[in-house]
Parts: sequence; structure tokens; C-alpha cells
Amino acid sequence: MPTFSETSRQKLATCDPRLQDILNEAILHVDFTVLEGHRNKEAQDEAVRKGNSQKPWPTGNHNSYPSKAVDIAPLSKQEGDKLSWKDIVAFGRLMGYVDCIAKQHGVKLRFGLDWDGDFRTVGQDPNEHFLDAPHVEVIDG
Ligand SMILES: [Zn+2]
Repeated sequence: MPTFSETSRQKLATCDPRLQDILNEAILHVDFTVLEGHRNKEAQDEAVRKGNSQKPWPTGNHNSYPSKAVDIAPLSKQEGDKLSWKDIVAFGRLMGYVDCIAKQHGVKLRFGLDWDGDFRTVGQDPNEHFLDAPHVEVIDG
């Protein structure tokens, strides 16, 4: 059974309790890492500069505390627990797991892999322009 690394655990602890519950359940079934939870001003400025985020501080969903957003990525056993950045299918499978658990918890999520939730992504969906594969956020309401 996969478990979170200490780093993943610390990053997850900065997230909305609903995200914590969902991901603590997901890790029982599928191996992944938590890349980022809350981002302070410095980290958000850096993310925008690198093109990893389009939202200036403090408008990003990672900027609230606890964070409404979390970035996660699948780990590949074949590659010695390395991140599989180019394997978009691995991200899609992970997000499917997470979405299913969220629905069981009555929580609505939005994914950077498929912002409008129509099961199509950048390149397949003319409405999608910004691929943010690791990004998951809670939708309130
Ligand atoms: Zn994100």
C-alpha cells in the first residue's frame, strides 16, 4: 500500500481539510506525490514567472490558507518512483481516482487537466488553453 512521504504530508497539511481527506483516501489505492499546497507571495510570484500559474498573488487558489488548491503527480514504479511528467494518461488516471473519491465525499473539484470538466484536455478541447496537469482545486457552493 502506497504512503505519503514526509514532504508530501507537510504540503498536504497546508490544504483545505476536504482536500486532505480525499487525498488521504486516494493514497491507499494509487501512488502519487504532493508537489504543492499553499503558496506564499514569494512562491506565487515564482510560479507566475515560470509560467506554472497565470494568477498573480493573492488571486490564486493556492494563495488562501488553508489552500483551496493542491498540485499532485503520479509516481511510476517502473521508473523507480519517479514522476512521470510526460505521461498525461497517468495524470488522467490519478485525477479520475481523486474525482471519484471526492464525489463520494460530496465535494466538487476542478482539475487543471480539464478545467471545464468535459473529459477532454488541451489539444482535444478547443475551450482548453492552459494545461496544468497536477492541479486540483475545491469548488465551494
Ligand atoms: Zn495548482
